[in-house]
This record gives sequence, structure tokens and C-alpha cells, in this order.
Amino acid sequence: MSTLPTSSNQPVAVAVGGGGSATVNQVATCIQCGYALQGLPTAGKCPECGTAVADSLRGFLLQFAGRQYLETITKGLSFVLNGILAMVILMIVGFVMAFGLVTAGGGLTAFSVLLTGASTVISLAILWGYWQFTELDPGSAALDTERSSRKVVRVAVVVSAVVAVLSLLIELSGVAGSARGTGAGAAVDTTAAVINGGLRLASAAAWIVQFFAVMRYTRLLGQRMPDAFIVKRCSMYMWLLPVLQTVGILLVGLGPLIALVMYWNLLDRLRKHLKSILATGAPAQLPKMAG
Ligand SMILES: [Zn+2]
Repeated sequence: MSTLPTSSNQPVAVAVGGGGSATVNQVATCIQCGYALQGLPTAGKCPECGTAVADSLRGFLLQFAGRQYLETITKGLSFVLNGILAMVILMIVGFVMAFGLVTAGGGLTAFSVLLTGASTVISLAILWGYWQFTELDPGSAALDTERSSRKVVRVAVVVSAVVAVLSLLIELSGVAGSARGTGAGAAVDTTAAVINGGLRLASAAAWIVQFFAVMRYTRLLGQRMPDAFIVKRCSMYMWLLPVLQTVGILLVGLGPLIALVMYWNLLDRLRKHLKSILATGAPAQLPKMAG
């Protein structure tokens, strides 16, 4: 590749030995399999997977990351972005159809179950996308800390997935209970309400934690393009989007929608870069790259 080395690339630290052969003297791991490369000759191959050691020493820019890793996080982003679109469409269709059913009088319970089922499937697809999006980069495995934004996203994703499945099961069992007509009484209703409230709280907490972690994680990937626009926007969105999500409801209720569009566009910009790297080896040329 002729673009090497760029100014923002990390300096490649190698020690030249007596015989003229260089060995890796920095903390470095194989971009393909994560094998620790310290002490190995820079001209050699990874003993674990055979990838040239030099390929793993070109720096932290994403264009030098392993192809498999790049494909995984790009696929994850597509699950997230397409899932968000599908969710918006489902909400619109659901709203229109519910309105129609109310006017026609009937079938609302079955319809509500169907809607919850569909939205649970889409939610799980989005969460699976976030999981893939936060795949460990074998090339920077040594830098992955205990509480990296990557890991925080994944913990939140697991919590959200468990809550989504439990909520669906509760809704289904509630419908089954009322269909049997046994209705064990108010005690059951109260328990269900308490459990539902707890699940909603856990879901909201996971959602908030996940949002901030995704922004920090995306900012890191923005630095690895490098795209100053993404980096700046991530920092800005960490306060702007929560404001739109809350106070923004006063904007004729449009705040949350605007926040969603901004969030979607930012992740889509990252996806454009990743697709470009996979296709051409370099990030996309987008407006305002320098911020
Ligand atoms: Zn390897």
C-alpha cells in the first residue's frame, strides 16, 4: 500500500539486532489471531496463524486491521442500522393498524401479542448487531482493558437481551392466563406489575449504559479512521442526544426522533468508512473529514 506511513500512524517500534535482523520490542498482537508478537523477528510469520508479523506492526488505523475483524464489525453495524429502520417501520405500521382495529372494534389482544413478538425479534437482531460490532480486534487485544467501552456495551447487550425475552414470556403467559379465564386474582396482577416494573427499570438502565458506551467505542473507531468529524460528534452526542431524548420531547415530541436520526447517521458514516476499507483498503472520502 502506497499510503504508508501516515503521520497519524503509531510509530513502529523495532529493535535492530546485531545480525541486521529486527525483532518486535513493543506490545503487539497478531491482527488475525491475537498472538503476542514480542521478541519475534519482524520479517517472520505469526507462529499461530502464519500472518506476516509486519502486517501487525503497521499501526492502529483500521485500514491495517485484520480483514475478518473488519467484516465482523461491519456486519454488526448493518444489523444495528437495518434493525433500527425495521423498528421504526414496525412502530408506524403498528400504530396505523391498532388505530384501524380500535375503529373496527376487536382483535386488539392478538394484535398486541403479534406486535410485541415482532419487536422482540427486531430488538434481538439489533442487540446481536451490537455484539458483533464490539468484536475484539485481535490486533489491539493487548490494549483491551477490563472496563473498555467495548466490554461495557456487551454487558448492557446481554442485560437487554434477557429483559427482552423475559418481557415477551410474561406478556405471552399473561395472555394465556386471561384466555383460560381462571384469573387467580389481584395478587397475581400485582406480582406481574412489580416484575414488569423491575424489567422496565433494568431495560432503561441497560439502554442508558449502552448508549454512552457505544458513543465512547464509536469515538475510538473514529480515531482509528481517522475521522475527526466522528470523534467530535461522539463527544457532542453524549450530552446532546440525552437532552433531545428528554427535554426535546417539548419540541412537539420530535426530540427523540431527531436524536435517533443523528445517531443513525453517525453510525452510518462509520459503516461507509468500513465498507470503503473492505473494498479499497482506505477509508471513504466524506465531507468534513477534518472536522
Ligand atoms: Zn496470528
